[in-house]
Amino acid sequence: MPKSTRAVIALGSNLGDRGEHIQSAASEIGELAGVKLHKLSKVVESFAVTPEGIDQTKPKYLNAVALVDTSLKAKELLAALQSVETSHGRVRIERWGSRTLDLDIITYGDSVKSGKELTLPHPRAYQRPFVLVPWAQVDPDAVLPGHGSVAELAAEMDGEVWFL
Ligand code: ATP
Ligand code: CA
Ligand code: CA
Repeated sequence: MPKSTRAVIALGSNLGDRGEHIQSAASEIGELAGVKLHKLSKVVESFAVTPEGIDQTKPKYLNAVALVDTSLKAKELLAALQSVETSHGRVRIERWGSRTLDLDIITYGDSVKSGKELTLPHPRAYQRPFVLVPWAQVDPDAVLPGHGSVAELAAEMDGEVWFL
């Protein structure tokens, strides 16, 4: 593989066979041209969050974090991940609505950028237990640019998600 960049990808599902969506999406990510799966975290579960806050009437989420090495540019990686979402029947109806599969790029190397299509690091990752807790599990030394130690951030919120 030519010049390779470590990227952190968050996987989430709260519709259908959630565990199967997460596990198969991780395999499919590893099979994308120019992407190598380095590690996949354990899966955590948490309550759904809507723009109004936690909603216990919505199906609960499973989330995991994948560390990958990729020769793709960040936007190419995003497009490839969106094709995996689509192949899992992802439809976009309402903001933060239930979904079979959501794949977000949390970090791409140490890239910091703010764009219409792609913002890096993911602008809401720092406040999300379902990203930080599995990320810290799979990479205890990880740092979220602009926010510091992922393990320290995760330690403050680990009651909000649970390992299955
Ligand atoms: P959130 O971004 O709060 O997690 P979401 O995942 O539900 O919400 P989507 O509908 O999946 O939001 O994505 C909306 C748009 O966000 C995508 O079309 C994509 O262009 C953009 N986007 C910006 N930065 C990123 C990123 N780091 N990873 C994934 N998508 C991003
Ligand atoms: Ca998301
Ligand atoms: Ca998304």
